[in-house]
Amino acid sequence: MSLSSKLPQVGTTIFTTMSSMAKEAGAINLAQGFPGFSSDPELLDLVRSYTKAGYNQYAPMMGIPELRQKISEKTLLTQAYSPHPDTEVTVVSGATEALFAAIAAVVSLGDEVILLNPAYDSYAPAVILNGGVPVYAALRDKDYAVDWDEILSKVSPATRAIVVNTPHNPSGYVWTKEDVKQLADLVDRTGIYVISDEVYEHITFDDRNHISLGSHPGLRSHTFVCGSFGKTFHVTGWKIGYCIAPVSLMVEFRKIHQYLTFSTVSPMQYALASYLEDKEKYLSLPNFYQKKRDDFVEGLEKTPFKFQSAAGSFFQWVSYAHLSDMSDFELATRMTKELKVACIPFSVFYSDQRDLKRLRFCFAKEKQELDLAVERLCRIHEILV
Ligand code: PMP
Ligand code: GLN
Repeated sequence: MSLSSKLPQVGTTIFTTMSSMAKEAGAINLAQGFPGFSSDPELLDLVRSYTKAGYNQYAPMMGIPELRQKISEKTLLTQAYSPHPDTEVTVVSGATEALFAAIAAVVSLGDEVILLNPAYDSYAPAVILNGGVPVYAALRDKDYAVDWDEILSKVSPATRAIVVNTPHNPSGYVWTKEDVKQLADLVDRTGIYVISDEVYEHITFDDRNHISLGSHPGLRSHTFVCGSFGKTFHVTGWKIGYCIAPVSLMVEFRKIHQYLTFSTVSPMQYALASYLEDKEKYLSLPNFYQKKRDDFVEGLEKTPFKFQSAAGSFFQWVSYAHLSDMSDFELATRMTKELKVACIPFSVFYSDQRDLKRLRFCFAKEKQELDLAVERLCRIHEILV
C-alpha cells in the first residue's frame, strides 16, 4: 500500500543531489550554499563555555530574552526601527522554520500566494502543505529585477500573501527603494500579507544597502521578516533563525512555532547573544564578501561565461546560452564529474523548470578554492564542444 503524497512534485532537493554528486566526484562544491570556511573561533568558544556552564535545557519558546534583545538592537542599528523584543521577535530553528510558520499563520485552504519565479525551493511546498495555491510572477529574465506589472497582473481577490526575497537567491538581485514602495502600495490597496525572506540581509555589494521590508512603516503591520544566523555568522549547520513581525501576526506565528519545534537549541542562543555585543561582527560582512565576489568575478572574466556581478547574497549566476544548447542539468552534471566543479542548474528554481542556460555558483569559499575552481572553469570548452 502506498501513501498518497501531499507533495507529489517534490523529490530530493537539488542541493542534496549536487552535494552528493560533488562528493562522489571529488569536485569543488560551489553548488549548495554554505560557507567553505569555519566561523569565528570566538563564537565557537562561547558555545563551548555555555554548554560547559550548563545551558543545555529547553530555551524559552520564543527564544532567550538576551538574543531577542540583540536582534531588536541590530534591527534598530541597520534598519532604523526597533521591534519589541518580547512580543515582536521570535527565535526559531532556521529561516526555513520561520518561512513555514509565517506561511502557515496566514494561508488557509484555497488562498493564493504569489511567489516570484525563480525562487528558493522551500516556499511552494510550505504554501501547498497549508492548503494554499502558489501563483507565479516572473522576475525579469535579463537581470532578475522585480517586474511590477507582472506581479500586479497576478493579484486576484483570492490573493492572501506574497513571498519575497531580498537579497535574492539565486540571482543576487537586491530590492530598491522603488521596489519597496511598489509593494507598500500593493499592500495598502489589497491588505495582503508579506513573507520577506531576508537571510542574506548583511551581504550586499558596491555600497548597496539592504532595505528590510519591516523598515517601511506602511508594510510593517503586514510583514513577517525571516532571518538566519547561519548565513551571517557562517554557521548554516546550527539552523538558528528568527522572525520579526508585529504583535498581531506574531501571536499566530508563535502558536505554530510552538508546535513545530517548540524552542531552538539553547547554548547557541546564549553564544549568539554574547557575540552580537560586537556590532562589527555583522557590520563587517559586506566587505568580507565583497572581496570574495570581486575575486570570483575577476576569475570568471577569464572564462567564456556571460554574467553581471551579483548585487548581494553569496551567489553568482552565469549564462552559457551563447555557447551551447546543452540542458543546464546536463552541463552541471558534466561539470561536476569531468571538470570537478559543482554548481546548481538554474532551471530548478523555476516552477516550470525553464532552462535559460544559466548556472549558479556559491562563492562563500576560501580564495584558494575559488581560484582552483576558476582555473577548471576556464576549460569549459572541453565539455561544450
Ligand atoms: N531562504 C533562502 C533564500 C536561503 O538561501 C536559505 C538557505 N540557507 C534559507 C532560506 C534557509 O535558511 P536556514 O538554513 O536558516 O533555514
Ligand atoms: N540555501 C542553500 C542554497 O540555496 C541550501 C540550503 C539547503 O540545502 N536546503 O544553496
